[in-house]
Amino acid sequence: MAELIDGKLISSIIKDECKARIEKLKSEGKEVALAVIQVGDDPASSVYVGNKKKACEYIGAVSLSYHLEESATQEELLELIDKLNLDDKVNGILVQLPLPKSFDEDEVIRRIDPDKDVDGFHPINVGRLSIGEKGFVSCTPAGIIELLKRSNVSIEGKECVVIGRSNIVGKPMAMLMLRENATVTVCHSRTKDLREVTKRADILIVAIGKPKMIDASYVKEGAVVIDVGIHRPDPDSKKLCGDVDFESVEKIASKITPVPGGVGPMTIAMLMNNLVNSAE
Ligand code: NAD
Repeated sequence: MAELIDGKLISSIIKDECKARIEKLKSEGKEVALAVIQVGDDPASSVYVGNKKKACEYIGAVSLSYHLEESATQEELLELIDKLNLDDKVNGILVQLPLPKSFDEDEVIRRIDPDKDVDGFHPINVGRLSIGEKGFVSCTPAGIIELLKRSNVSIEGKECVVIGRSNIVGKPMAMLMLRENATVTVCHSRTKDLREVTKRADILIVAIGKPKMIDASYVKEGAVVIDVGIHRPDPDSKKLCGDVDFESVEKIASKITPVPGGVGPMTIAMLMNNLVNSAE
């Protein structure tokens, strides 16, 4: 049976480290502040925003909340970002995505000062990652690197297969694994024989967005399996599942992340880590 990689525990350790680093900054007279902008009232976004505020409170950072109506204009949002870019008291700026359809998300992301872009979505930070410069890295893949390292999974020289090539998970994940000296293959919806590729993986990272798609037939005996997916298979149930069929894969993997309690809690912890890095 696979050993569980405990994202709940590792994320709480990272948040405690952030808390200690903020205490040190405060002792030097520095405050740490995250500006969170929400546009409209999408209930899922409100939950995410609420969780980010709670995490700030936990680590001792100030969270500054900005709420624009869905009827607000792109110009109003850009003006707010410009104001926060210039505000020395603000260390990080986060615009909760997705934005309502009338907004141009790409323009909004590009308007955030790359040195306050704690989500790591600005093209400058994406570029920094790909050429190996320091910068903000997208929180979910950065969290997966921490999960692997803190669970004593060695990455160097390993065959790593990433399923999914999204800008926020798959692509930065592949770049990070490359930075850690893994041999990296990226699979996607047009990959011809997915099983043939995933069966090679020592480390298999699954970010497809399809409930329980990856069962044991895709996994090499002894592989480490990281499940990024989050789904509520039945709208009435509280039970969540991932992109991996946990019951079958846990029998042959050496280590596996559960859903919930695996990758999920790492995203906010790494957001806090990016915020403290920005302040330091
Ligand atoms: P996405 O929809 O943007 O990308 C999915 C990727 O999977 C695409 O690149 C696509 O090519 C690939 N894909 C789709 N069908 C495939 C198939 N049959 N075979 C091979 N590849 C296929 O999704 P995303 O934003 O990268 O998110 C992926 C999953 O991770 C979702 O379930 C999402 O909810 C979850 N997620 C979780 C967190 C977290 O904090 N844990 C963060 C972001 C995303």
